[in-house]
Amino acid sequence: MTGVPSHPDRPALVHRLRAAGCVYAEDEAELLIAAADSARTLTDLADRRVAGLPLEHVLGWAEFCGERIAVDPGVFVPRARTALLVDAAVAVTGPAAAVVELCCGSGAATVALARRLAPRWLAAADVDPAAVACARRNLDPLAVPVFQGDLYDALPAPWRGRLDLVLANAPYVPTAAVALMPPEARLYEAPVALDGGPDGLAVLRRVAEGAADWLAPGGHLVVEAGQAQVDALCAVLAAVGLRPTVTRDEDRDATAVTARRPG
Ligand code: GLN
Repeated sequence: MTGVPSHPDRPALVHRLRAAGCVYAEDEAELLIAAADSARTLTDLADRRVAGLPLEHVLGWAEFCGERIAVDPGVFVPRARTALLVDAAVAVTGPAAAVVELCCGSGAATVALARRLAPRWLAAADVDPAAVACARRNLDPLAVPVFQGDLYDALPAPWRGRLDLVLANAPYVPTAAVALMPPEARLYEAPVALDGGPDGLAVLRRVAEGAADWLAPGGHLVVEAGQAQVDALCAVLAAVGLRPTVTRDEDRDATAVTARRPG
């Protein structure tokens, strides 16, 4: 194959992407050109992006915490803001920890945790078979198991009460607000990865209840939430006996809530 980097239609591609509403048209054009091994492939990739697919689904990967993460069709695209969750988790987790990511989607956060922690156990889980298959593509090379099932039900029973860290980017968008999300999310990501029920906290409530049971004494739950949900979420966490603290990163528009099980 002749490489495409000298593709003569780069300006036209940028123009086409911009006209389709791609804010970072130049950057996207670079990525699509780099991904295409022929002019025909480039046209095909551009057609799919212009039709509205998320860039990451067109490319088949997303960048997260400096890692290239495979993202299959329909699977939640790792958000840059979720790096705050990884930072918050690393800040409270010592060596040889037992670590689980729930609602793992592509497994991006677990890949980052595998790089930054030296865990004793590390595992991921998701309810969506497509997410589990995608996470396995990312985590098999790191020998990290991925379980399928509803939250803690997915995990081996002997881990109950022994986890040092549970991290979850659970769905937290209120049901009525899912329709207001960008089309990339509402049309091309699994609703189960976004829809958090009437107030957005339906899944996080169950994550909190389970954490009180599955964390070891002194262990931590780290979750993402919308800024407007923080007070309600902290009340939920306190009600199950956990001690929440909030970390906010304005630059990344990210909110992480860390909740400790008293030891
Ligand atoms: N507001 C979040 C986003 O699109 C939703 C993520 C989630 O529900 N976990 O980035």
